[in-house]
Amino acid sequence: GDSNGSLDSFVKIPDIKFTKLFINGEFIDSISGSTFETIDPRTGEVITRVAEGRKEDIDLAVKAARNAFDHGPWPRFSGSARGKIMMKFANLVDENAEELAILDTIDGGKLFGIGKGHDIPQAAECLRYYAGAADKIHGETLKMSSEFQAYTLKEPVGVVGHIIPWNFPSQMFLMKVGPALAAGCTMVVKPAEQTPLSALFYAHLAKLAGVPDGVINVVTGFGGTAGSAISSHMDIDMVSFTGSTEVGRLVMQAAALSNLKPVSLELGGKSPLMIFDDADVDKAVDLALLGSLYNKGEICVAGTRIFVQEGIYDKFLEKLAVGIKTWVVGDPFHPSTRQGPQVDKKQYEKVLSYIEHGKTEGATLFAGGNPCGKKGYFIEPTIFTDVKDHMKIAKEEIFGPVMSVFKFKTVEEGIERANATKYGLAAGIVTNNLNIANTVSRSIRAGVIWINCYFAFDRDCPYGGYKQSGFGRDLGMDALHKYLHVKAVATPIYNSPW
Ligand code: NAD
Repeated sequence: GDSNGSLDSFVKIPDIKFTKLFINGEFIDSISGSTFETIDPRTGEVITRVAEGRKEDIDLAVKAARNAFDHGPWPRFSGSARGKIMMKFANLVDENAEELAILDTIDGGKLFGIGKGHDIPQAAECLRYYAGAADKIHGETLKMSSEFQAYTLKEPVGVVGHIIPWNFPSQMFLMKVGPALAAGCTMVVKPAEQTPLSALFYAHLAKLAGVPDGVINVVTGFGGTAGSAISSHMDIDMVSFTGSTEVGRLVMQAAALSNLKPVSLELGGKSPLMIFDDADVDKAVDLALLGSLYNKGEICVAGTRIFVQEGIYDKFLEKLAVGIKTWVVGDPFHPSTRQGPQVDKKQYEKVLSYIEHGKTEGATLFAGGNPCGKKGYFIEPTIFTDVKDHMKIAKEEIFGPVMSVFKFKTVEEGIERANATKYGLAAGIVTNNLNIANTVSRSIRAGVIWINCYFAFDRDCPYGGYKQSGFGRDLGMDALHKYLHVKAVATPIYNSPW
């Protein structure tokens, strides 16, 4: 049921407070003075104009971050001093959860209730997790040979460039900024052009919390200008990127051709959800819907290839047909809505074109398949069955509310087909058979495996890709360590002749 005919909001939308670049602790216009529109995907209307940062603005932001790193207090503070400020930052995030959630809803079409009640509080918890780690960063003592001993130091990598996507603006911002702050780095963040608003609000909260000027700089703007100025910058020491595989390749290339800065890449996916004959079918249906449709399918780890073993295939489809009806599309502010609009017109059209491909390639359109609503970028949750492995919808990341259902016979066949993808981000397994769960978990080439669950994320659990889903990990202690260098210091134990 689509209920987005009228979008009378359930909350009062506040005036937008921050629309300028945040550099060296100040909100400033871009050097060129240019701005760009940010659009509300519920209506297609302009929310406001935001400063458009380009190469010269990135240069300015890098100068501020460089100075804050080379001469400022942040990397020189004790870990507990950094942690204290980060805790304060996290508390301010909690206090402003409603306004931040509103920004992500109007900018990105995300569900307001989930934003306010889950995403933003969890993002604040993620910041606290890294605040707690800031005073627990240390190296090791090594014996070396009999003549020497060594110790290792963990030092911040320096100025970090964070390039982030639009699908989880708040969580992405804090999961990138949190560990880099704890490590003692300074940074330039470029939010996605579709969702610049909450990032600027976070910059304001960081300043209020006492993060020194120049430590966090936020430059809003486009990928080809502001983004590429980060990846090719000679004075940025590392880039942490989340986005498409296509752009990840460009970022790595630009890093290689400039100063050989290390990169971490969290890229696309086409993750399998594998449902075995012994599975609880109701649970399998719930996980299939959640795994492929949550956040309107705009999730890198979405489980969009649903492999169902032949013994329960018919029963699964029967229940899926009922389950999909509960998936209500509409105003993301409405408490009963489960799916809001796609983030922008471009993604909306891209998803619809994949649906057309599915039809012309001969898959069966089992549910949905149409745009919906009188305005905005809403699409019905869509299911294709009889999907063949070679079809475009089976191979390419759609990044929208479209699931493809496949039938398989044996466990071995399921594993082989699930692995037959250039991606390797996540996989789900639905079974009560421990042997199958163990075998499949170890056989799937992906960075995260969910057994009888999906999207089981938490701040202490690292995630990231195998294959062309990228490398490097976000969350957990693994993410902290990507913002740290290891320095070895050796010294003779005795009065050595060397
Ligand atoms: P995108 O790659 O187009 O954009 C991501 C970011 O990169 C944006 O900030 C964009 O401005 C910037 N960018 C674009 N061109 C650039 C360039 N030449 N140089 C430097 N930066 C550039 O991706 P998108 O369309 O915004 O997001 C969707 C994609 O992101 C999907 O493929 C999805 O799988 C992926 N994604 C991955 C993860 C993950 O954790 N692995 C998370 C979310 C999204």
